[in-house]
Amino acid sequence: MKNPAHNIYIHVPFCISKCKYCAFFSHACAHPDWDKYVTGICDEIKQWGTKIGNVDVPTIFFGGGTPSLMPIGVFQEIINTIKNNFHILNDAEITLESNPGTIDVEKLHGFVRAGVNRLSIGVQSFDDEKLKFLGRQHDAQTAIQLIKNAMDIGLRVSGDFIYGTPGETVDDVIKTCKQINEIGLTHCSLYELTIEPDTPFGKMKLKMPDNNTMAQMYMAIEDTLVAKRYEVSNYAVPGHECQHNQNVWDGRPYIGIGNGAAGRVLLNNEWFEQRGANAQFDKIDNKTRAIENIITGMRTVRGCQLTDMVKNVINMDWVKNNKDKVQIENNRIKATKNGMMVLDDMIVNLVKEI
Ligand code: SF4
Repeated sequence: MKNPAHNIYIHVPFCISKCKYCAFFSHACAHPDWDKYVTGICDEIKQWGTKIGNVDVPTIFFGGGTPSLMPIGVFQEIINTIKNNFHILNDAEITLESNPGTIDVEKLHGFVRAGVNRLSIGVQSFDDEKLKFLGRQHDAQTAIQLIKNAMDIGLRVSGDFIYGTPGETVDDVIKTCKQINEIGLTHCSLYELTIEPDTPFGKMKLKMPDNNTMAQMYMAIEDTLVAKRYEVSNYAVPGHECQHNQNVWDGRPYIGIGNGAAGRVLLNNEWFEQRGANAQFDKIDNKTRAIENIITGMRTVRGCQLTDMVKNVINMDWVKNNKDKVQIENNRIKATKNGMMVLDDMIVNLVKEI
């Protein structure tokens, strides 16, 4: 029996320097040993290809870190290895995460020739002071230029932004959203700044906006952006959603390649947790997988499909008594607007035992 299609995530763990809020798995290293990196990544791809078979690949996502630091040759070799071990669909979405200042027009063209058709840009802000505060290496103009260059080439473009920094107001957030509309981004992700303990910000006494202001910012984003919210932090003009993330949130299988990556693979109808490094491979029982589907699916506006597996772990009494937070429609369960505001608490109640 042939296994179903799998999406592929490739982790590129290098950055020019560490941003002050960053708790991601990434190293400050502008000139990594790319030969060593590409050998490791391609070995992993071959291993999983052997294990899972030559299955269809609808999406490939290069995340980081800063994948745009990669020389084109490295990217090309990784894509070729995927092609030799899997079947990349003709219309596959191939996303590259990038940071302004690490990619000029010529390099952008190189990535496009090698297969990239979607660029996700770490813009974070259009305000130079805020960028400096966050420890970013670029200014707003460089980010705007990269967005324009990528759009001119015909790429699908997404921008990442951070809001809720100390001193930021709801009006500041609205201004950012209006700039996003003006520039014509059809996809963007807006993340609330969270302070992680083991980061420079974690060691500072920052005065963050209060919860009420944060909630107002969250609502102002939805009211101002032309793009529509389709996941807690993600917005798209309909038809421009990130297929890779949508597939992962929908509970479809994906392979994670690289030291910082993990995946969920479906082999002979059984789910496994998969880790890129060391080829770790552990079976996941149906209940755990159903809970994972609920956790990711409920973050999306379309919600989580009510498969038998999912129905078995949902507390239907709680659903009946909390119609203001959760609703069932077309065999999917989804959060209402109120529910989206209290998502984490809601999921704890929604699942019978967690
Ligand atoms: S660019 Fe992204 S991954 Fe790299 S240090 Fe900054 S936040 Fe972390």
